[in-house]
Amino acid sequence: MPETSSENLVRRLAEQGPMSVGEYMRWCLTGREDAYYRDGNPLGGAGDFVTAPEVSQIFGELISMWACAVWQSAGAPSPFTLAELGPGRGTLMQDAIRASRSVPEFHEAARVHLVETSATLRETQRQTLIHACTPEWHEDISALPAVATLAIANEFFDALPVEQYVFSQGEWRRRMVALNDQGELAFAVGGFAPPPMHLLPKAPPCEGDILEHHPDVIPIMNELGRRAKTAPLALVLADYGYERLDYGDTFQAVRHHGYASVFETPGEIDLSAHVSFTELRMAAEAAGLQVFGPMPQGDFLLALGLEQRLRQLLANADLSEEQRATLFLGARRLADPFQMGSLFKVMAITSADVPPPPPFANSVASKG
Ligand code: SAH
Repeated sequence: MPETSSENLVRRLAEQGPMSVGEYMRWCLTGREDAYYRDGNPLGGAGDFVTAPEVSQIFGELISMWACAVWQSAGAPSPFTLAELGPGRGTLMQDAIRASRSVPEFHEAARVHLVETSATLRETQRQTLIHACTPEWHEDISALPAVATLAIANEFFDALPVEQYVFSQGEWRRRMVALNDQGELAFAVGGFAPPPMHLLPKAPPCEGDILEHHPDVIPIMNELGRRAKTAPLALVLADYGYERLDYGDTFQAVRHHGYASVFETPGEIDLSAHVSFTELRMAAEAAGLQVFGPMPQGDFLLALGLEQRLRQLLANADLSEEQRATLFLGARRLADPFQMGSLFKVMAITSADVPPPPPFANSVASKG
């Protein structure tokens, strides 16, 4: 019988010793051919979790209008790259392309590029978008064309590996994944490893405090910063996360829409960590980019016209009562502060030559 991914991991830990939390997360999500974001089917009712574009078509439609407004403010470059990082089932892009038809110049200038590690999801995206556009796929953002770029990232950054540091016996040590005496996966404390100084909260740490760092954010922002020097660039990202530098453990597993142990069936289960918007901001600013927000997702969508779009859709006399209820409840779930409206936040990151994007236009940009 072929080795399961759990058996493979246990053997690897037995042979090579403990791995850091970040290495473990990378191994589970993208590190192997059969990793979760290489050949899993994570999204939707039958998968592990549901995302905003799967909840309501209005999400992708409003993101499309956002992209169109930024495109116009950047001088309507043609052609331009409409990129999505981690497009899931392709639902957001499908809704965005359909909505973009109302601005034909924008629609015609857009070249769709998808950054996706999963072969299974690439195939789903191809099928979803078959009548909408002819995308090109890339393994990472460095392969995107060097032209004006509008990029979208919904629940992408939370899937990137998180490194954890534990304050133990008066010093910072790396948090590891190891085998315990029973040969099961367990957390362990590694050797001395100082976390990045700029991520330390003002309050001194107590014994057992955990500090998180997202190492992949830095190369991504550096790559965007490099591109922003030669062509206009804007990225809008939505994710759940926190704004203040703080201690805490947000590493989590979700299976079939409920929380699970991060050690359950490694490589076959959703692992994520809350996004640190401060870390994103610092990395983007250090790369010379402008940062706007974050603002609560509900405020962002309402400012972009969520209610007007909902009313427009409900005005269709052919809809059944059930379709009406789905549209109404979906829109409410996205914006309601007790649902996805405030846990999820939206941030925009742009090149210095792009004017403040809506609805951040009235807020002050922080420049790198
Ligand atoms: N944006 C989608 C899906 C979110 S799930 C939605 O809102 O429905 C995370 C997505 O990012 C999946 O498509 C996953 O395969 C992809 N992904 C995860 N890690 C990635 C990485 N390192 N590089 C590129 N894509 C990645």
